[in-house]
Amino acid sequence: MASLAGGYRLSLGGDTAVASQLVLATGLVDELPDVEGFLDHYGADAFHCVYCDGYETLGRRVVVLGWHPHVGEVAIQLLEWAAQVTVVTQGQEFEGAVTSLRRRDVRIVKDQALALLGPRGRLSGVRLRGGETLHCDFLFFYLARRPVSDLARRLGCRLDGDGMVITDQHGHTSVPGIFAAGDVTPGMQFVQMAAAQGAAAGMACARLIRARRANPVRALLDSRNRADQNPSPPTSSTEAVGSS
Ligand SMILES: Cc1cc2nc3c(=O)[nH]c(=O)nc-3n(C[C@H](O)[C@H](O)[C@H](O)COP(=O)(O)OP(=O)(O)OC[C@H]3O[C@@H](n4cnc5c(N)ncnc54)[C@H](O)[C@@H]3O)c2cc1C
Repeated sequence: MASLAGGYRLSLGGDTAVASQLVLATGLVDELPDVEGFLDHYGADAFHCVYCDGYETLGRRVVVLGWHPHVGEVAIQLLEWAAQVTVVTQGQEFEGAVTSLRRRDVRIVKDQALALLGPRGRLSGVRLRGGETLHCDFLFFYLARRPVSDLARRLGCRLDGDGMVITDQHGHTSVPGIFAAGDVTPGMQFVQMAAAQGAAAGMACARLIRARRANPVRALLDSRNRADQNPSPPTSSTEAVGSS
């Protein structure tokens, strides 16, 4: 009942805002490799997105850092262009499809990358803890990603195993009146996807505001039904206001 007429007080730097509904679009952060020289190369010849930058590896040698199954998918996608792909697991056991990679001549090295060699834009190799240097022209990585903000968790929204906010196709989270869009939700992380999801969530949010004005009881029942489908009690650190 409190969520029908209630809302949230948000602290925005020095300002405060009150809202009856929230659209969370707080994004994610990729864990960057702790490798000497990485930041010198990031964005020039070290990348995380094979769809954005994979084509640059045409006929070249690539090292992929990481051990998750997704790394195996990245390695196989890179073979569309690259002449040679080597996976370095940062000392971890590789969790992907080893046989399928070996069949495609992808070497899997259980060692730790210590340094990227060569100037920005002209990567020449990756030096490993074990002493070997892997000669290469590009580095890709996938270590981990996490939400930038834990607002959704604190508000009680249902999350997936990576901490991303689960929504329906209109951006409704499991908490009535809270929506989410973009990288903070599971799925593809692209500007276009984030913009489209933001538009859908904004429209659903506007529809909910209109519904609450027109028929508060019906809107309350709809909210309860949705919450019943995704039970997760809100435990907001933002302050609930105007509850009735
Ligand atoms: C290096 C790199 C290259 C990329 N290249 C491409 C590309 O070529 N094409 C493409 O389509 N996509 C690309 N992407 C992905 C694209 O940037 C994202 O998919 C897109 O920006 C997601 O938008 P978003 O609004 O969900 O999140 P973001 O753009 O991350 O925006 C989230 C915002 O919320 C703010 N925020 C977080 N927490 C709080 C809080 N508590 N209070 C207030 N504000 C908060 C953050 O500061 C940030 O400004 C790239 C990403 C990276 C990292």
